[in-house]
Amino acid sequence: MISLKKVNKSYRTGTHSLHVLKDVDLEIGQGEMVSIMGSSGSGKSTLLNIVGILDSYDSGDYHLNGTLVKNLTERKAAQFRNRTIGFVFQSFNLVGFKNAMENVALPLYYQNISRKKRNKIALEYLDKVGLKDWATHHPNELSGGQKQRVAIARALVTQPKLILADEPTGALDSKTSNEVMNLLQVINQDDITLVIVTHEHDIAQKTSRSIQLVDGQIDSDKILSHV
Ligand code: ADP
Ligand code: MG
Repeated sequence: MISLKKVNKSYRTGTHSLHVLKDVDLEIGQGEMVSIMGSSGSGKSTLLNIVGILDSYDSGDYHLNGTLVKNLTERKAAQFRNRTIGFVFQSFNLVGFKNAMENVALPLYYQNISRKKRNKIALEYLDKVGLKDWATHHPNELSGGQKQRVAIARALVTQPKLILADEPTGALDSKTSNEVMNLLQVINQDDITLVIVTHEHDIAQKTSRSIQLVDGQIDSDKILSHV
């Protein structure tokens, strides 16, 4: 579903240019659960943002579900993103003045679904992540793990084929991190592709394939067996 061929990306600031991704070749199939590891600054977020059509690349080709992702207009990119991809971030990115249900319902607003129906669907997804009883609570009344579960429900509510998570457990303690990873594993059982950026080995161990980025290049790509 994800296919990158010789993808390069540089950031230019003033007269300086920083070559962040160097000839990256990467194939990820439907239903895989992949971790991307690497030290800070190795290009993990840049790679994830390109895969998520949040950022552009300079050369090479990126196909998502057979569509070449290149030179898309903002509008086309947004449409493609909303239809195909759900996002989960380290900092949860919930809207503070909306309750859990309204946060989960938000992506459906852009699909012209009535408020009543949006909220009904949002409750179903809150139930899936074990938070139905917390629907009317605002983010500041939720623990870190609960916030991330709300964010995961929000990522799922549009029924994406792909979930991209950038350090989803980066702000959580290890017990809560484990719970979030267990939830992501359950989601993966529904044939949803997951790509998870992390720098923690314990987290990567919960995925079935782990890719190591070093200085903008893929250094290793390993299938992890879970006995
Ligand atoms: P990681 O997620 O692995 O820590 P990033 O992909 O965020 O790495 O960043 C890779 C490199 O690119 C870093 O040196 C970072 O400072 C730089 N970088 C990231 N985003 C930008 C940007 N928008 N403008 C300039 N430099 C950037
Ligand atoms: Mg990063």
